[in-house]
Amino acid sequence: MLEVSNLTKRFGGLAAVNDVSVRFEANKVNAIIGPNGAGKSTFFNLIAGTHKPTSGRIVLDGVDITEEPCDQIARLGVARTFQTTNLFEQATVLDNLIVGHRLRTRSGLWDVLINSKRLQREEKASRDKAREVLDFVGLSHVENRFIADVTQEERKRVAFALALATDPKIVLLDEPAAGVNPEETEGLADLMRKMVKSGLTVCLIEHKMDMIMGIADKIMVLDHGEKISEGTPEQVRNDPVVIEAYLGSDDDAAA
Ligand code: ADP
Ligand code: MG
Repeated sequence: MLEVSNLTKRFGGLAAVNDVSVRFEANKVNAIIGPNGAGKSTFFNLIAGTHKPTSGRIVLDGVDITEEPCDQIARLGVARTFQTTNLFEQATVLDNLIVGHRLRTRSGLWDVLINSKRLQREEKASRDKAREVLDFVGLSHVENRFIADVTQEERKRVAFALALATDPKIVLLDEPAAGVNPEETEGLADLMRKMVKSGLTVCLIEHKMDMIMGIADKIMVLDHGEKISEGTPEQVRNDPVVIEAYLGSDDDAAA
């Protein structure tokens, strides 16, 4: 599905991602864990094309996407959510989806601003897509509510929906359960299971170990930009190298 070879990203003297090779399997939950600053988000930025690697290769379903621009990578089926998703607070859930869908699928902001004829024709397609993904993530009942009036968990679902609206093959979720309570976290985990069931490949960065251990098929552990461990939840949990990395750091990663 996704094959990463010897991926490195340097910011000045800092190797945020250092010679990482990994394969993500189709139709599975592939998780990435590691202490703060380990390079997890940077790794996603490289796959999505937001940052270009210093060296290494990224191959998606046999296609080398290493040098592709991010809009092309999105078209090839890679979608992502961000650690903090900016939503339009004073617009409805549905309108956030419609605008998000346009911004992600159209050639430019200019088209959106001038509301071209072409866009008017595409309006219905955007609306239908928005409704479809809102139904999938379980938000149909709040589609007309303003973002400012929905719960934190519902915002997270909107972020999922935004990613799904681009018809991806693989979805990169960056700490999707940050700031929601345990019960809501379980709801988001169920949604990820549903995504996998529908044929998607999920790639998940998360700090909540209970969730990761319960949902991941495979885990990669990053520390200081390097892959220090990889395997099933059971294998990773019992890996002395991982235990050392977590005990040796004083952030909240093991919480
Ligand atoms: P994580 O998501 O695992 O917490 P990040 O990928 O955000 O870690 O960051 C890894 C390291 O790279 C950190 O030391 C961070 O400060 C650095 N870094 C991330 N993005 C940039 C950037 N755009 N410019 C410079 N340094 C960055
Ligand atoms: Mg991060």
